[in-house]
Amino acid sequence: MKTLFSFLAALVLSISYVFSADYTLRLDYIFSGDATHTEISLAKMGRLEGWWGRTVNMDNLLLRGNGQIILRDSATSQVLYCTSFSTLFSEWQCTPEALHTRKAFENVYLVPMPQATAYVTVNILDKRDSITASMTHIVHPDDILIRPAASPYTLDKCRYVHKGGDSKDAIDIAIVGEGYTKEEMEVFYRDAKETADQILSYEPFKGKADKLNFIAVPVESKESGVSIPLKGEWKQTAFSSHFSTFYSDRYLTTLHLFDLHDALASVPYEHIIILANTDNYGGGGILNSYVLTAAHNRWAMPVVVHEFGHSFAGLADEYFYDDGTDQYDLNTEPWEPNITTLIGFKSKWEDMIEKKEIVTKSDQKFPAYTTLVESDYKVGIYEGGGYLSEGIYRPFPTCRMRDNTYPLFCPVCQRAISRMIDYQTIQLPE
Ligand SMILES: [Zn+2]
Repeated sequence: MKTLFSFLAALVLSISYVFSADYTLRLDYIFSGDATHTEISLAKMGRLEGWWGRTVNMDNLLLRGNGQIILRDSATSQVLYCTSFSTLFSEWQCTPEALHTRKAFENVYLVPMPQATAYVTVNILDKRDSITASMTHIVHPDDILIRPAASPYTLDKCRYVHKGGDSKDAIDIAIVGEGYTKEEMEVFYRDAKETADQILSYEPFKGKADKLNFIAVPVESKESGVSIPLKGEWKQTAFSSHFSTFYSDRYLTTLHLFDLHDALASVPYEHIIILANTDNYGGGGILNSYVLTAAHNRWAMPVVVHEFGHSFAGLADEYFYDDGTDQYDLNTEPWEPNITTLIGFKSKWEDMIEKKEIVTKSDQKFPAYTTLVESDYKVGIYEGGGYLSEGIYRPFPTCRMRDNTYPLFCPVCQRAISRMIDYQTIQLPE
């Protein structure tokens, strides 16, 4: 016991020594370029009260992501904190528009405020896992231009729709409204509560509910609803979101990340769910960035859980098309835990199967799932996933990451989510 106590005391001491535990450093970047060029620029830095992110596993990554932020002490080069992310910019680089146009995208990341001068490195990786752009800049914690951030949406104006534990120990997930007017705030609170309840009805979120906080932040929009370009409808909303992102009708996103984080500056938050006040179908989720989903249609709640799988745990889409996109390189193992090209299958779910046998597309005749406990489905290697019907494999016949009607995450996705919750809340062995 004494040894454990000494270890914990040393850990607490080392965390408080290198960080100012009372502040978060907000880093605002612009990622810009086209299909083949990427540039990273620092836009500004801010200081937020409190540090609500993880205080364990600070110097290692659970997922590679499409990009990484690494904070290093300037004197020793020791990694103080690192995190990974995906960005809408990388998705856009795969679109036809990027072949002839340069565009710029806002991105925001939160790291603990260092106590001494530090360096921040931002890396962006392509689908072959090669770094396409890297930028390192200095941070002086006493820099007078690091702006103290604050928002009118203070904690006393928000509502916890689920509180698993103290913010220092639990993972804080902010739910914000997009396209809800002042008069529609009770509708927003109802939607936020339903969202939290839905996510917590799925394992492993259900079993680890005491590790999760959901806080509803009542952000007001001038107009009700969100922009639907296909119908020529444009609305004045808090985060200027719209459907038809990259000309894909159902893809609902916001490009206004600075506004989004400004609204959240006075509440504890580590993950963001944006609920859009519309009955149009759609949404999107980006690792360590946000989920944005339409709140009022038949599939709204399954979709928000699916998108949260992307943004929270970095899960890939397990669905596919015969004429799918080439978002993944078939000679590289994707970093998402629930798909594989078999290049690096050992790092995936090899330990969860008895025989390394591929179930080809033509062999896939599954019994219908009637009751969940009686499911005959088994973890295996099923052809089709990550938008491609060949060359990429998923672990289970179906999953919340494949089908809106299937009411579970598959065993591999459940393990990945569980690992992510542990990574953020428990010190894991090196
Ligand atoms: Zn799955």
